[in-house]
Parts: sequence; structure tokens; C-alpha cells
Amino acid sequence: MNESFDILIIGGGINGAGIVRDASGRNLKVCLVEKNKVGSATSSWSTKLIHGGLRYLENYEFRLVRESLKEREVIKRIACDITTPIPFIIPYQKSLRPKWMIKLGLFLYDNLGGKMTIPKSSTINIKKEIPNILKDQYKTGFQYYDLQIDDKKLVELNIYDAEKNGATIIENRKVIRAKRNKNIWDIILDDNTVLQTKILINAAGPWINDILTKVIKLNSKKSIRLVKGSHIITKSLYKQKRAFTLQNDDNRIIFVIPYKEKYSLIGTTETEVFSPENPKIDDSEIDYLINSVNKYFIKQISRDNVLSSYSGIRPLIEDFKEASKVTRDYVFDLNEDDSQAPLLNIYGGKLTTYRKLAENVLLTLNKYIVVDDKNSWTANHKL
Ligand SMILES: Cc1cc2nc3c(=O)[nH]c(=O)nc-3n(C[C@H](O)[C@H](O)[C@H](O)COP(=O)(O)OP(=O)(O)OC[C@H]3O[C@@H](n4cnc5c(N)ncnc54)[C@H](O)[C@@H]3O)c2cc1C
Repeated sequence: MNESFDILIIGGGINGAGIVRDASGRNLKVCLVEKNKVGSATSSWSTKLIHGGLRYLENYEFRLVRESLKEREVIKRIACDITTPIPFIIPYQKSLRPKWMIKLGLFLYDNLGGKMTIPKSSTINIKKEIPNILKDQYKTGFQYYDLQIDDKKLVELNIYDAEKNGATIIENRKVIRAKRNKNIWDIILDDNTVLQTKILINAAGPWINDILTKVIKLNSKKSIRLVKGSHIITKSLYKQKRAFTLQNDDNRIIFVIPYKEKYSLIGTTETEVFSPENPKIDDSEIDYLINSVNKYFIKQISRDNVLSSYSGIRPLIEDFKEASKVTRDYVFDLNEDDSQAPLLNIYGGKLTTYRKLAENVLLTLNKYIVVDDKNSWTANHKL
């Protein structure tokens, strides 16, 4: 007989991992299928920050920033072994965002999330506090804090907990077909295993619409834009344990972050692509990141300083805005046509909000399986 589950999740990125952990702790029979190793795609190609997203305030995304700031506190508590608070400096530049705007943004950032254990923002004298890093013209800086995280570990820890709670995790197996029946789905893997599930969750990140059209054979209701974000890694550009948030003339922001003791992580870019497979940095992205650094830092870098790079794909919900202005929030698309077995498609999301996303997924499924809000548990159990 085929094994049968309450919930089956396609995709072992952070969203799938968060959902399988949460569901397994509520005594549901749950399975996650990942075509490679868990956490091997977008969720390990990120900027590795648990952050409120200061710049989303410019797009009036108050809901997202509030939720992200609250989650930053939760993740600091439950994943303390893989997170470190780190100060970020925004060097003030007269021709770009005015001081009042940055200060207002930081005031909101300090307060929107409620009570915080992370230090509040401040104004600093760059020459005194961090001498010999930035060019002479940068005198004032605005400092705020976010968390640095090991993104891949975050996925693995969620999966580990789920397995401890009895979840079935299948790696290196691709879901190739999902057949929908009245009350049950038949899920076919690439080794011809057939699994059954009452509810199917499509958490395939940038592959979400591929799963819909090729595996489930449904038309996708939402169109997405695939936007590649790349990072370069150089030897440490400076010794201090501080990061920089650099404003560019095109209004975008680049981070320079201390990475693994000896390196600097610099990113990201935003380039539209047409396939989620094997994203790689291109020369124009390398030059863009190098130019951002060279605009601010005394130490000038060139392509010779680039030790390595990685790229990931953001599946942004298409709303015909510039990539940097498209929402980073998550959207659920619950498909329950003709009273057939339900399907939940998960669009977007961030590492930062994965836990809350998972909690909301389970509450959304309340009408099919008994999920009690009072039984939400993941915020209080260390990973
Ligand atoms: C450049 C960049 C920087 C970012 N930086 C940050 C940051 O600093 N902080 C933050 O909070 N967020 C950040 N994000 C966002 C965050 O990384 C993503 O929102 C998150 O990783 C998405 O996770 P996911 O589970 O949806 O997708 P993924 O991690 O891509 O997981 C989807 C999984 O589905 C699997 N899959 C696909 N098809 C199948 C199939 N047929 N069968 C089985 N498995 C399948 C894939 O192999 C993949 O592992 C960043 C994103 C990018 C691109």
C-alpha cells in the first residue's frame, strides 16, 4: 500500500523546512520531498541576514517590516547558536537620502517591532569610530543592528527537529507528477514511488510555477518574475566587526558584511532571468558590486580581488514595478477547486519570516485538518 500523509510539501528550502517542523510538532503526519539536499537552493544563496528590511519602509511595507522585526527577536532566541547581532553603518551622503529620512526610517525600525533586545540605532562619527576604512568625504554614519545567520544551517536545524518529531524527509528525489483526486493526491517521485496526501503544499521557491504547470498541470494564477541576486566574496576589506549599508546612485543598497572571520561578503545585484536553474554571476554584476565598494572605501578593489561568488533567484510576484520595489512579502494561493483535495502554493517570503509563514500556513489549513492557534509552538522551542 502507498504511504499516506496529512500534508506533503514539495521543496526543502527554508519555507518547506519551517512548515514541516511546525506541522510535525502538531501531531500531523507530514512528508517533505526535496530534489537535491535540503537547503541547497535559494535558502543558502542569501545575504544571510535576519533583518527587518530597513529599505522596505521606503515602499511603505510596514506590515512586512513589523513582522520581520518581531521574527528577528524570535529567531535570535530560538537559533542563538547560529545567529550574531552585527552593527550596520549607513555612510551619509548628501546627494542621496536626506538625514531626516534616514533618521525617521531608523526611528521606525527601532520601534515598529515592539520591545527589542537588539541595540537601537545611533548616529556615529565615522572618522573617530571607524577610522581609515571609508573615504574622507564620509564623516557621519547611521548605525543600526541586524542579525547574521548561517542560512543553510537554519534549514537543516528545522529539518532535524521535524525528523525528531516523526516527519518523513525524502532528499534527492524529484516530484515529477501530482494527480489530484476527490479527497487525496497521488504524488509520483522520479523513482516511481507513489505517495498519497490529503493536502499538497508547493514550496518550490523559484520553481513554484514549474511545479504548477508541469507537475500538477494547472495554470498558475500568479505570474512571477525571477530576479537573480549575486554576491562576491573578497578577503576582509577591514578588521572591524561591522557591516556597511551602501547607498547607490540608482537608489539600490549594497551590503558589505564580515564573513567567516577572514572575508567580506558583498551583495546583492538584481538582474531579471528566465530560468531558475544554476544561476551564476555575470561580469556586469561583478563590476556593479566592485564599483559600489570603490565609491565608498579607501581600499580599492578590482576583479582580481574576487575570490568567489554565488547567486540566488528571487521569485518576485509580478506587479510591474522595478525589482527593488517589488514586495518581499509572502502570498498564499489556496486552490480548492471543485471540492477536490486542496493545494497551497507559497509565493515569495524571506528567511526572516519563515517561521511565521509556517505558522500562518497551518492556520490557513485549519478547515481541512484540526489546527488550533493555541497550539502554535515554534516560537518557544529552541532549534
Ligand atoms: C540573493 C538573495 C539574497 C537574499 N537575502 C536574504 C536575507 O539576507 N534575509 C532574508 O530573510 N531573506 C533573504 N532572501 C530571501 C530568501 O533567501 C528566500 O525567500 C528563501 O530562501 C526562499 O526559500 P524557499 O524555501 O521558498 O525556496 P528554496 O530555498 O529555493 O527552496 C525550494 C526548493 O524546492 C526544491 N524543488 C524544486 N522543484 C522540486 C521538485 N520537482 N521536487 C522536489 N523538490 C523540488 C528545490 O530544489 C529547492 O531546494 C534572499 C534571496 C536572494 C535570492
